[in-house]
Amino acid sequence: MPVDCRVADVAGLRIDSRQSIGVDLSLTITLHPASHLELTSHLNNRISEMQVGFVGLGSMGSAMALNLVKAGHDVRAWNRSKLAQDDVPGLALVERAADAFQADAVFTMLSDDAAIREVILDAGLLPGAQSGLTHVVTSTISVAFARELALQHEEAGLGYVSAPVLGRPNVAASGQLNILVAGKSDAVAAIAPLLAQLGKKVWKLGECPAQANAAKLACNMMIAMAIEAMAEGVVLTESVGLDRADFFELILGTLFSGRAYESYSAQIRERSFEPGFKAKLAFKDMRLATEASNRIGRRLPMLEAVHEALGNAVSLGLGEKDWSIMADMTVRGSGSVAPSKSKMATTS
Ligand code: NAP
Repeated sequence: MPVDCRVADVAGLRIDSRQSIGVDLSLTITLHPASHLELTSHLNNRISEMQVGFVGLGSMGSAMALNLVKAGHDVRAWNRSKLAQDDVPGLALVERAADAFQADAVFTMLSDDAAIREVILDAGLLPGAQSGLTHVVTSTISVAFARELALQHEEAGLGYVSAPVLGRPNVAASGQLNILVAGKSDAVAAIAPLLAQLGKKVWKLGECPAQANAAKLACNMMIAMAIEAMAEGVVLTESVGLDRADFFELILGTLFSGRAYESYSAQIRERSFEPGFKAKLAFKDMRLATEASNRIGRRLPMLEAVHEALGNAVSLGLGEKDWSIMADMTVRGSGSVAPSKSKMATTS
C-alpha cells in the first residue's frame, strides 16, 4: 500500500512521499580513484566547515557528540545537568540550549517528547535559530510529535530530520549505530556527512519524518516481544530442569539467531540488568507504540503485554535497570525480581 505522507491531522504540512531523496547517505559511491579522492576531499572540506550543536548529553547523546568531536567537528553542546569538561573532552559546553541552535546543524538526544517540547518548543528556540539550520532529532519520539516538529520547523524556515537510532550506548560510542532517517531530501542531504560519522549504516526511510519514528517504535516493540518470548521459553524449560544456558544455545543455534536474541539472551542468562537501555525509556516507547496503534484504531495484543510488563517493572522501582529486567520478572512469575547472582553469593 503506498504511504500517504501528507499529514491529515496537522494543518499546513504537505510532503510528497514519492520524491526520492537522491543522496547516498552511506557514501558508498564507486568512482574512478581520482574522482573518489576529489569527492572525499570535497566532503571533508564541507564537513570541517560545519558548526554542529548538540542538545542532551545522556548515555547516548554524550557518546554521539564525542564521536562528532573525534571526527574533527566543532561541537557546541548543552545538557540540563552540569557536566565536568573532563567527562566530555573536546565538546564546547554552552550555557543555554539556544546556543546549540547557532550552528549549521543541531542534534537533539533528549529523553522524550516532553523534554523536547520543554527545552526547544516552549523555550521558543526555533524562531531564534541560525538561518539555514537543520535540526536532527535522534531521540525515540512519538509519530504525532514528529509530525508536529516537522510542521513547526517548516514554519520557522528550518530543516528537520527524524533520525532515531538502533544500538545501545556502547554501540553509539563505537560509531556503529544503525540510523533510521526520514525527512525532506535537502534537509537529509545537508546532514548526511555527519550521520555517516555516527553510524555504520544510515537507512533512508522516506521524506516524511514520522516514517523513521514509526519504524523505530516498531523495532523496539519487537525487541521487547523477543525479550518476553525468551523469558517465557525459560519458564517452560526450567520447569523440567533444563539449564537456561543450554536452552539459549539451542535457540540461538537453530531458529533464533538474530541480534536481539543474541544480545538479550546473554543478559537474561547472566542475570545482568545494568543499562543499556533503561526500563523507564522502554516503557515510554511501548506507550508511544500504543498511542500510534490507537490512532489507527488497531489493538495489538502482544504490544499490550510488553507494555504492561514494562509498566510493572517501572512501578516496582526498576525503571533505571535495563529493560531486560522484565524477563526476570516473568521467570519469577511474581512481578518481583530475584537478587542478582553476586548478591546471592555474598548472602549465602
Ligand atoms: P538518558 O541517559 O536518560 O539521557 C537523557 C537525556 O535527556 C539527558 O541528557 C537528560 O538530561 C535529558 N533530559 C531529560 N529530561 C529533560 C528535561 N526535561 N529537560 C532537559 N533535559 C532533559 O537517556 P538515553 O539512554 O541517552 O536515551 C536518550 C534517547 O535515546 C531516548 O529517547 C531513548 O529512548 C533513545 N535511545 C536510547 C537507547 C539506549 O540504549 N540507551 C538506544 C536507542 C535510543 P540530564 O542529564 O540533566 O538528566
